[in-house]
Amino acid sequence: MSDNLLDKVNTLKIQLAELKNELMRQPFERKVCIGELKYGRNLDIVVKYDGSEVVINSERNSFDYIHPSDIIRYADGWSESRFYELQEAYNTVKNLKFHAGCIHQRQNWDLKKMIIVRRYTWSQKYYNMRKDASDGRMPLHEYEKFQGMYEKVAEITSKHRTSNTVLVDELLRLGMIKLKKEETRLAVNTWPHEHPEGLLGVPCEVCNYPYGSAWINDPLPEKTLAFLRGL
Ligand SMILES: [Zn+2]
Repeated sequence: MSDNLLDKVNTLKIQLAELKNELMRQPFERKVCIGELKYGRNLDIVVKYDGSEVVINSERNSFDYIHPSDIIRYADGWSESRFYELQEAYNTVKNLKFHAGCIHQRQNWDLKKMIIVRRYTWSQKYYNMRKDASDGRMPLHEYEKFQGMYEKVAEITSKHRTSNTVLVDELLRLGMIKLKKEETRLAVNTWPHEHPEGLLGVPCEVCNYPYGSAWINDPLPEKTLAFLRGL
C-alpha cells in the first residue's frame, strides 16, 4: 500500500474508534421482565444509563437476594445462564469504586501522607496591644507599628489564613500568636492554605483536575455496558 493509502486507513481507524466510543456513551433505558417468581410475582428490572453512570433497579425485590431457584418460569429469551450473566453485570456495577483523585493523582501522589496541621490564635501580648490601640492609649509611632502587625496576625489567625511558615515563625518569636490546636491529618484532606503540603483542591500536573473536587468513578467495563444495552 502507498503511504497515502496507509494514512487514509489510519485516519479511518481513529474515526471508527471515536464513533465506537460515542456509541458506547449513548444513554439508554431498559425495562425487562426476566420471569415469574414464586407467589406469582414478576421479576422486573430497570436499567438506566445516562452516558456515565448505570443504575440497575428491580421493582419489588432487591436483586441481591434473588436466586435462580426463586424463579419458577423464565420469560422469552431468558434462562438460568442469562440470569447469571445479568447478576454478574449487576455486581460489576455495584462494586465500581469512586475516587476523590484522578488516575494520575492516584498513581503519582502519596495519598496516605500524614502532616501536622497547626492553628494559631492571638497571644495575651497581642490582645493587650490591640486593646490599647482601640482605647486610644497607644502613642502614634507605636500605633503605626501595630497596624503592620495587625495585618500579619490576621494573615495567620483569620478564617482566610495562609500557611506562610516564615511569618508564623516571626510572629511566634515576637510573642504575637500562640498555638491553638494541633492535629495530624491526611495531606489529601488538608487545604494548602492550612498547610504548605496540603493537597485538597490542588490540580493534577497532567490533566489539571483539582483533587477532591468531584467523585470519579472507575470506568464501567465495555463488556458489561454492551450486555446491559442489549437487554
Ligand atoms: Zn490527572
